[in-house]
Amino acid sequence: MQTVLFHETVFGPIHSRRLGISLGVNLMPNDGKICSFDCLYCEAGYNAQGQGTTGVPTRKDVHSRLNARLKEMHDKGEQLDVITFSGNGEPTLHPDFKEIVHDVLSLRNKYYPEAKVSVLSNSTMITKKSVIEALKTVDNNILKLDSAISHTMRLINRPKSVNVQSEGLIEDLKQFSGTCIIQTMMLRGSHNGVRIDNTTDEEIDALIAAYLAIKPREVMLYSIDRKTPEEQLEKVEKEELEAIARRIEAAGIKVQVNA
Ligand code: SF4
Repeated sequence: MQTVLFHETVFGPIHSRRLGISLGVNLMPNDGKICSFDCLYCEAGYNAQGQGTTGVPTRKDVHSRLNARLKEMHDKGEQLDVITFSGNGEPTLHPDFKEIVHDVLSLRNKYYPEAKVSVLSNSTMITKKSVIEALKTVDNNILKLDSAISHTMRLINRPKSVNVQSEGLIEDLKQFSGTCIIQTMMLRGSHNGVRIDNTTDEEIDALIAAYLAIKPREVMLYSIDRKTPEEQLEKVEKEELEAIARRIEAAGIKVQVNA
């Protein structure tokens, strides 16, 4: 089983297809993964690898590590486009997520006021007041919706809770209308002999209806970039992603393709 974890709380900078030169903040353990989803394509591997032993970093720890790294980069005159919450799981599950976002915005303002702060989230915690408040303060609130059809979403994302359905996620996402970025992974393949494909006409029509209801600032379509825990998945090539993007754009929605 693939397990590619980030072994630091502050990592990078790395060059991101989607975001530019990005310094990562991992609010999950350094030697394990915690997520409310267990996506077939997760770059950190399956949840079955365990939560590790380090626990989640404290607010103080995140602050001191990020402060040191930003100071070092700033002193060396290094470029930075974005500070991104991502890593070994779902960042909004951290109990002090709101306070940490506040600290990160303050440090950004001190060292790189022109850089953006992005959060990559799977949208499962956007019913929690403090998470909603925090996400409203960041520059790029990037929220996942891989399928507007629950059966497909549950096959791809494998939520821990039986209550997570696409209809509910779409309803919750509407509260960020006009500001959020919806991120959708396009893929096809199979898992345990079950065929999965979110690129069919039915899937794209359902996604377009969901995007129209949510009214995001933008949709980000992307495809598999690295080895995935489920090896029976295939990459949707750039030309096909662009064709899907044109269909979505025809509905009046701004789309960015990352392939
Ligand atoms: S939501 Fe993100 S971190 Fe969680 S399993 Fe899916 S890809 Fe991995």
